[in-house]
Amino acid sequence: MIIPTLGCPSKCSYCWSSEEGSPVMSIDTVREIVGWLKGFRDDPVTFTFHGGEPLLAGVEFYREALPLLAYGLSHLTPSFALQTNLWRLTPELAEVLKRYDVPIGSSLDGPREINDFQRSEGYYDRTMHGYSVARAHGLNVQFICTFTSHSIKYREEIFDFFMSNGLTLKLHPALPSLRSDEPERWALDPSEYGELLVYLLDRYLENMDRIEVRNINDLCRCVFSGRGTVCTFVDCIDNTFAVGPDGSIYPCYRFVGMPDYVMGSVYDRPSMDDIKKSEAWGRMNRFRECVEVHCKRCKHLRYCRGGCPYNAISHTDGKIHGVDPYCVAYRRIFDEITERFNRELLSSFGVQSGGRPGIIALIRKIASKEEPRGL
Ligand code: SF4
Ligand code: SF4
Repeated sequence: MIIPTLGCPSKCSYCWSSEEGSPVMSIDTVREIVGWLKGFRDDPVTFTFHGGEPLLAGVEFYREALPLLAYGLSHLTPSFALQTNLWRLTPELAEVLKRYDVPIGSSLDGPREINDFQRSEGYYDRTMHGYSVARAHGLNVQFICTFTSHSIKYREEIFDFFMSNGLTLKLHPALPSLRSDEPERWALDPSEYGELLVYLLDRYLENMDRIEVRNINDLCRCVFSGRGTVCTFVDCIDNTFAVGPDGSIYPCYRFVGMPDYVMGSVYDRPSMDDIKKSEAWGRMNRFRECVEVHCKRCKHLRYCRGGCPYNAISHTDGKIHGVDPYCVAYRRIFDEITERFNRELLSSFGVQSGGRPGIIALIRKIASKEEPRGL
């Protein structure tokens, strides 16, 4: 993950980004990333530009950074992704992104009133304008919807909004903000998140030919392949890194700007062994110890792996004391998927009671599609 800046022009209520004028990564730092990764590992790499708002870095940044990474690290077969609110997407930027086939993840929390209430006034229209620029240039955009303690009350409207606009639905629960005076105000309660996932599973099964719900696809893939297929459900430590605007290396974009989680700097070109000697790595590794204890007897451990280490610190003083607090939600939905699957197997093949499509039909649909790397 490359974080060109922590700045963002929006002021979403539950977000941790900084002011728009926050420092921006230089092209020299991108060159240092290339220098560092040349000798670091041999596995294929996906670069996700994240923020803050990564498009604040401007068109020149991407015009130089993308070829540096693509050709300088061609032996790692780089692919790219970008997470942006799209406000600053210009036709020039869209052309550059299209040249490197960069899939875009953006954020929209539902219809205008719900979205703008929790993100900021005017957000919806700005993002939709950027979306039209992206589409006009043939860019692939998928939206992530953050469910908060407020928007959970409108889950039906939000689902219908995504379906009637032909948008794929991917969701995140709002976490307590480590940088807010009222950290819990927008956070989604873990058991409510579990219920939301089950609700979405039902609505998805009823409308399988009209919408994709990526989280449900991912959760089913986890259960039926027996391994995590998104970062929340794999052991991300040692396999995901984020580089902040000044070249500092962190475990993930979510930790950028937290001094306790700096594992090194690209300017020093640390090896994996150097990173493992850092105090920050030791702090992260504590998560694995918690998973070993907490999840030992869980039947979902193989494909859940204790969830997300950042979620584990978001409810604390910034240190890891346990596994992901959304454990309750994961267990609820994993149980639901496996129990329904078993029931369907025992009854007629691939059909819920009442003759409606069930989990087996969904698995068939998922198996017939492939989703892109990244995001
Ligand atoms: S810390 Fe969480 S969000 Fe970041 S890579 Fe790991 S699982 Fe994903
Ligand atoms: S569902 Fe909970 S107990 Fe089971 S592996 Fe996931 S985090 Fe651990």
